[in-house]
Amino acid sequence: MQCARGAVRPGYGGGMAAGTEATRDERAPMPDGRAARAASVEARRRAVRDALAEVDRELADLRGMREVLSDDDEHDPDGVSMSSEWSRLEGLRQARLAELAEVEAAAARIASGEDGICAVCGRPIAPERLEARPQATTCIDCAR
Ligand SMILES: [Zn+2]
Repeated sequence: MQCARGAVRPGYGGGMAAGTEATRDERAPMPDGRAARAASVEARRRAVRDALAEVDRELADLRGMREVLSDDDEHDPDGVSMSSEWSRLEGLRQARLAELAEVEAAAARIASGEDGICAVCGRPIAPERLEARPQATTCIDCAR
């Protein structure tokens, strides 16, 4: 039966098959990719947590130093550099916290099967972007 079908339009049938194949590849996310994504997001989460702990340690050190020096005189040059260090660390800490929240949101999206889809426009996120930024939940266009 297959022979009879092929004999009617040999060229046409072949072209259709190839086209269908390509479409299916784009639409269905690979299950293997999902496991790899979960692992890469988990690795990023650990790295961000470590970085956050590091900043917290530095802030605690600085706080301890501040108490010892009782920085009530503003004309002390040490006091100035210390407060700029303080705001640098505070800024860093906020950035780490924000990144941790993003990573956790990405982990939740992987668990619910929404991973790899832009949270804003619903289109697929480019694999290169997910590789560079595992916690990305929007495509590059929506992130701009
Ligand atoms: Zn988008």
